[in-house]
Amino acid sequence: MIRPAARLLIATLATLSLAGCTAAAVSSPSPSSTSPVAGTPVDDFTPVLASTISIPRALPATDDRVHIAYELHLSNVTTQTATIESIDVLDDSGQSLERLDGDDVTPWVHVAGTTSPGRTIGPGQGALVWLDVVVDSMDDVPSSLTHDVSFAFEPGALPIITDEMTERLATTEVDTSGPVSISPPLVGAGWLNGNSCCAVTPHRGAVNPINGEYHAPERYAIDYVQLDENGSFLTGPADELDSYPYFGSDIVAVGDGPIVSMRFDLPEQTPGGNPSGLTLDEYGGNHIVQDLGDGVYAFYAHLQTGNPLDVEVGQQLVKGETIGLLGNTGNTDAPHLHFHLMDSPSPLGSNGIPFVYDSFELEGSITAADLDAKIAAGGPFDIDAAGAGSEADLYPMWLTVTSYPAG
Ligand SMILES: [Zn+2]
Repeated sequence: MIRPAARLLIATLATLSLAGCTAAAVSSPSPSSTSPVAGTPVDDFTPVLASTISIPRALPATDDRVHIAYELHLSNVTTQTATIESIDVLDDSGQSLERLDGDDVTPWVHVAGTTSPGRTIGPGQGALVWLDVVVDSMDDVPSSLTHDVSFAFEPGALPIITDEMTERLATTEVDTSGPVSISPPLVGAGWLNGNSCCAVTPHRGAVNPINGEYHAPERYAIDYVQLDENGSFLTGPADELDSYPYFGSDIVAVGDGPIVSMRFDLPEQTPGGNPSGLTLDEYGGNHIVQDLGDGVYAFYAHLQTGNPLDVEVGQQLVKGETIGLLGNTGNTDAPHLHFHLMDSPSPLGSNGIPFVYDSFELEGSITAADLDAKIAAGGPFDIDAAGAGSEADLYPMWLTVTSYPAG
């Protein structure tokens, strides 16, 4: 169920020839290299390039930790294979906040042109790395991050490329302004948070090549299904909408602001199967994009067809107002609400913004193994009530079950 809008991990990168002379002094490839040439800036030779998709921003979550979830794009511009041996994420004082070694790197890396995780980047290939740097509190969020990435290079063409190289890459500022505070987009109990941050769920994996650049709009997106008192979201044949009791639940505005775009013309999909033949602008199904101000936009997707609340573009929505009904339109195989915040009105050509809910109840959580084992049957899931209680100003982590008050 509940698949990403588009999991497109495609990059075509030219392989550069590094033969020939250079006018610039090139130092040792070590991050701690120094130049003996007086007055000359120290340059590092970095045959694998890296940059962040967007500026990282911290997120306090229901696991009582603060997550800094972001992505690196790597480009191996050599004629040799480069295998990532380790990734060390350092704060502005050089302290390691997160380190991945050897095979622990693999689940967090996807090489362009491949269909499964892997850490060996071929000549001319690119790769995406998903990072989840965790600190104890917002006070511990660094003002910048950098990365020491160690590569094992296939022996080959250029003497300057040694078998093992550690590159300092993708130094970035961190947005320390904190998450955006909103109210929940749903009302009632038993809402299971599917595909949300910060593991490499389908939402985090949906880093898409849009408008000539990678974008990560679904970085913090949540897919909601509602569990009944037995812990199930499916009560009959999987291919009938009536088997999903929460189909038609109210979707409510998470803040004040106008509707900037919407559509309600798409039909409900038959649940229990994967739709095909959708165009890019149909992936979100019927949807509303709301301008919350300060460059923040809310995206409510897969809504029921026909605009049942009769909303219109330009309408000023009020926090808590019902704006649509939970549906099964677009790229969906079971009724659910897909919700995220983003930094532009484009649901795919944007980057995700972290958010917290001002007030909600944490009912508990289920395990990934339980989800995998029972998803086809729609449950019943075993909800562990550890940590249950009233919460404020936190993001509900993947696999949590939450309850949202009315109004
Ligand atoms: Zn979704």
